[in-house]
Amino acid sequence: MDSAVEPGAIESLRAEVTGEVLVPGDEGYEALANLMVHKGHPAAIVRARSNDDVARGIAFAVAHGLEISTRSGGHSNAGFSTNVGGVVLDLTHLDGVEVLNESERLVRLGAGAQWSHVATALAPHGLAFTSGDTTSVGVGGLLVGGGVGWMARKYGLALDSLVAAEVVTADGRVLPASAEENPDLFWAIRGGGGNFGVVTSFTVVAQPVAQVFFGQIAFAPDETEAVLRGWAAYMDSAPEELTATAMCWPTFGEAPPPLGIMVCYAGDDDAAAALAIDPIRKLGTVVDDQVRLMPYGDVLQPISDLPPGWQPRVRNRLTPALTEDLASTILAQQAHLPNLYVEIRSIGGALSLVPEDATAFAHRSTQALIMGVLLGDPEGNEPLLPTYEAFWSALAPSMSGAYSGFLSNVLQADIDAVYPHQTYRRLAELKREYDPDNIFHLNVNVIPA
Ligand SMILES: Cc1cc2nc3c(=O)[nH]c(=O)nc-3n(C[C@H](O)[C@H](O)[C@H](O)COP(=O)(O)OP(=O)(O)OC[C@H]3O[C@@H](n4cnc5c(N)ncnc54)[C@H](O)[C@@H]3O)c2cc1C
Repeated sequence: MDSAVEPGAIESLRAEVTGEVLVPGDEGYEALANLMVHKGHPAAIVRARSNDDVARGIAFAVAHGLEISTRSGGHSNAGFSTNVGGVVLDLTHLDGVEVLNESERLVRLGAGAQWSHVATALAPHGLAFTSGDTTSVGVGGLLVGGGVGWMARKYGLALDSLVAAEVVTADGRVLPASAEENPDLFWAIRGGGGNFGVVTSFTVVAQPVAQVFFGQIAFAPDETEAVLRGWAAYMDSAPEELTATAMCWPTFGEAPPPLGIMVCYAGDDDAAAALAIDPIRKLGTVVDDQVRLMPYGDVLQPISDLPPGWQPRVRNRLTPALTEDLASTILAQQAHLPNLYVEIRSIGGALSLVPEDATAFAHRSTQALIMGVLLGDPEGNEPLLPTYEAFWSALAPSMSGAYSGFLSNVLQADIDAVYPHQTYRRLAELKREYDPDNIFHLNVNVIPA
């Protein structure tokens, strides 16, 4: 072992917890120390099997002055769920999915479950849960940040369907959080990320959806701008069952690829789905149409392997008005960066019906999320960063916030965009109550007031 922690202390921790404790050199350590693109070298990885294990892992880190990374699915774009020299609290053993009450659609999700696992477990009950787009993203990280999924316009953010949670706080208490119990904590964990403790389980109301119409409609590249403008205009009046995302692919200096619009119609009524989706098909020359009825679980996609050394730079902003002019601006700015992938997720709908102060995710008048991913390795991208900044500056007048999930390099401007002033103030006061020493700071951090 090569950390500052005494081997004896690790042995004591091992004796206290029911899960495993891995240190450098242990079998399985390397695979857990690193994330997809972020390398880590924690002093200890605590693979918790209970709330008590989590509490003991926290106490160990605090006693030794070590940083804490909370990890559920390990998909932090910023690499928050690993560290160098600290403790990783790995929740992957806490991956249960239990239908508590089928008629009320109440389901308890372990924080360490992956969303594909959740979809598979709910399908036999005729249920689904709007989460994200990727099979292996974890329940924990997505639910405390937001959860912009394929049924967002019909059912809101994933966290809008949360009714209760269990939280292990900085001082090792295990607190229930719901509208009735510790309501402030319940408010804070719905958008405040990992700032308030380790959430070990979530009780949610699942959606009565078995099958959806899902797939990509691709358009002739020379019609990209006209189609994107038409799509932006249409989504404002589209039925809430329809959630759609425009994928503006990078050119890498080659001929432009087709514009892809992914659609998800939350339901199996083919006439209603066609009514919702056909206006998109009519926007231009369709070169590929993959839309078909499928089980909800099939809409989640695995992550493709990245070329070695790639570390995508990810940022997003939210807009209250997805206008045709904004669509044109996005494309004009993207043209300056041949390795920039731009994704525009139309949201709004049910997400906008929740009052702004009801959860710590406050951006309720959002119509679209714009994500810009600079592909490639950090060295190659370094000279492109001023152009990447110019992309965001050009969009800034039309933007009103940001989503914590799609950020790889978290700057103060991002934190300010994620938490509007009023939200931040309330979060900071609660942070003082629940984590006064800011031991949970590897996140989109709120400083205790
Ligand atoms: C390939 C990819 C696709 C994505 N697609 C979507 C999408 O479609 N929709 C969407 O909304 N988001 C999406 N995201 C963003 C994703 O929601 C966030 O990155 C989220 O934090 C990942 O959750 P995780 O549990 O896998 O991450 P982890 O890396 O395990 O955790 C990330 C952070 O979340 C906090 N956290 C994690 N678990 C807990 C817990 N149990 N209690 C308290 N805090 C916790 C911690 O601060 C932690 O550092 C995607 C990310 C990636 C990399």
